Amino acid sequence: MYAVSRKVPTFELFIRCENCLRESLMVVEVPDVDDAPRDADQLADSNFLANLRFTCRHCRGNIGCVFGVAQGG
Ligand SMILES: [Zn+2]
Repeated sequence: MYAVSRKVPTFELFIRCENCLRESLMVVEVPDVDDAPRDADQLADSNFLANLRFTCRHCRGNIGCVFGVAQGG
């Protein structure tokens, strides 16, 4: 019997809006797949960020620059 309870890593992304230059914090969960990024470095190297949809909560702009990544719980 296998009680599999794999923890899905979460990351906090610090994103600066290219339009209004204000900063947003975005918490993302990566899919629980074998090649999923497990830390911030792997996340930066993956194409996960490239496929991420960002919408600025201040101006609704959707172009953001990720300037920081922190690993969540
Ligand atoms: Zn904005």
